[in-house]
Amino acid sequence: MDKYEVLKHFFGHSAFRRGQEGLIDAILAGRDVLGVMPTGGGKSLCYQVPALLLPGVTLVISPLISLMKDQVAALKEAGVSAAYINSSLTLEQLRTVYSRTRKGAYKLLYVAPERLEGEGFAELVRELEIALLAVDEAHCISQWGQDFRPSYLKISTFLDALPVRPVVAAFTATATATVQEDIVQLLALQDPVREVTGFDRPNLFFDVRHPKSRMAALTKLVEERSGRSGIIYCSTRGGVEKVCKALEDRGIPATRYHAGLEPEERQQNQDDFQFDRKTVMVATNAFGMGIDKSNVSFVIHCNMPKSLEAYYQEAGRAGRDGEPADCILLYSAGDITTAKFLIENGGNEELSPEEREAVRKHDYERLNAMVDYCKTAGCLRGHILSYFGQRQDGPCGHCGNCQGDFVEEDVTVPAQMILSCVVRVRERLGYYVGKTLITQVLRGSRDQRVLELGLDKLSTYGLMARLSAGRVRELMEFLELEGCLRVNPLHSTLEPAGQARQVLFEGQTLSMPVRKDRVQEKKPGKDRPAPSASESGRLLDALQGLRSRLAQAEGVPAYIVFSNAALADMALRAPRTMEEFLEVSGVGRVKAAKYGEAFLRVIKECSEN
Ligand SMILES: [Zn+2]
Repeated sequence: MDKYEVLKHFFGHSAFRRGQEGLIDAILAGRDVLGVMPTGGGKSLCYQVPALLLPGVTLVISPLISLMKDQVAALKEAGVSAAYINSSLTLEQLRTVYSRTRKGAYKLLYVAPERLEGEGFAELVRELEIALLAVDEAHCISQWGQDFRPSYLKISTFLDALPVRPVVAAFTATATATVQEDIVQLLALQDPVREVTGFDRPNLFFDVRHPKSRMAALTKLVEERSGRSGIIYCSTRGGVEKVCKALEDRGIPATRYHAGLEPEERQQNQDDFQFDRKTVMVATNAFGMGIDKSNVSFVIHCNMPKSLEAYYQEAGRAGRDGEPADCILLYSAGDITTAKFLIENGGNEELSPEEREAVRKHDYERLNAMVDYCKTAGCLRGHILSYFGQRQDGPCGHCGNCQGDFVEEDVTVPAQMILSCVVRVRERLGYYVGKTLITQVLRGSRDQRVLELGLDKLSTYGLMARLSAGRVRELMEFLELEGCLRVNPLHSTLEPAGQARQVLFEGQTLSMPVRKDRVQEKKPGKDRPAPSASESGRLLDALQGLRSRLAQAEGVPAYIVFSNAALADMALRAPRTMEEFLEVSGVGRVKAAKYGEAFLRVIKECSEN
């Protein structure tokens, strides 16, 4: 049989899907491969077809017992001999699988990564002819993926111990460029053939809006889509309640879903949406796992998610039926402040300081990519695809930016302000400084460092007091692109670059493309009166103090009372009532009843001082 016959005979397909054939050919030719395809993109076929064509047995490393069971059951159904080895087997069953494996009864043997180390297994594999080792969910090997599994790191040791190295094929549905590099390196793939494919969802229309009033923009978008099924994501339970109520008030059949609801109500609301009794679901990101509703025709995000992975996964719940669908993100500069605060204060307590620092750095990288998506004037689809490592030929022509009207905004004056501030600070201090300090000076900040260095005496101090920090940063980034500023790679300081002189002294003008519907945006959304960073910081200290006292009194680790993330969110929201307290992420009813009053008291005291 050849690969086409195998495909037809065992799997019932007459053609390969995009990306599959190249990987299969590479494996058959003895090359290592790395395949990145979204779930449902046909990854498993890429190793199952070669397994049936190659001599001996193919080992498949898979992390989830349930997944293994399903795959093996499906293969048996198709007439392929396969088995699995994992902790769900009894000793008797394990013996049977071992002895049948020795007799060459299986073409595919699925193995949990923990099993690779076992003495019995090592003995078994020495007797086998292993043609191919397929690693499913290969991103589990990377510490920077969401699902790191230390047992995956054992795979390369296992490979080294084999008498003959088989072809190694790694597959994953979620891998950014960094994670892909990790996979290649940690699995020691040899010059692998790479295929990143299937991430594009051509029927989805992407757009990012910067509305002055989120609620007004949102209700308009939903009313324009009246009668169609859609999901609206909000970052907080309070947001969900508010939006759902506003839509219901306007006669839109909406329901809601978040972790603060009783399980019965959650189930009821989910069913109402699933069976189209309510057309609009307003939810936190707790909603969506395991939802398989094909006719969702729009997904609107009221807040920016913390990463593009998260965004694409949630937005991707639209248009599963292949019909045209919209994915719209409503963005405001306040979203960035919130996200940063949560990164700074929400570390995982079980990590070492070095690990926490690395995670923090990674969180920032992900956040920056998300912010770039919200601000780019380029093709939105292209931005997403390139983030996942899939190439796109030119702009898509079918996203908000590709179709948006752009106007040129003259930014010569603000550009001159920024450039001369960089120069003046250098004159005063004798060295260049970073973006943050320059932004503070321009916005007239009373920050201690600014005052200590005497930068409030500069003529450029406070020149941009009316602009948001985000806007100043955006202008700086534009100046970098235009070659007027550069960031010194060694010291991360902001320095004038080649074109600065023309703009400062030679009358060159600068204009920046801005989408017409964003021209008005000057201030961060007024619907989020976020407390200033220093206020939240002070409150956080007080909350942490209370947490340690409570933890000590109960003899439990502090994070059992509340996690860092919950405290950070609490400090940011500064809830006043028990109801508001319940909106804090990580606060359930039991904990609210137990600790709520004590924390509310501290918050009240803190705000009165
Ligand atoms: Zn586009």
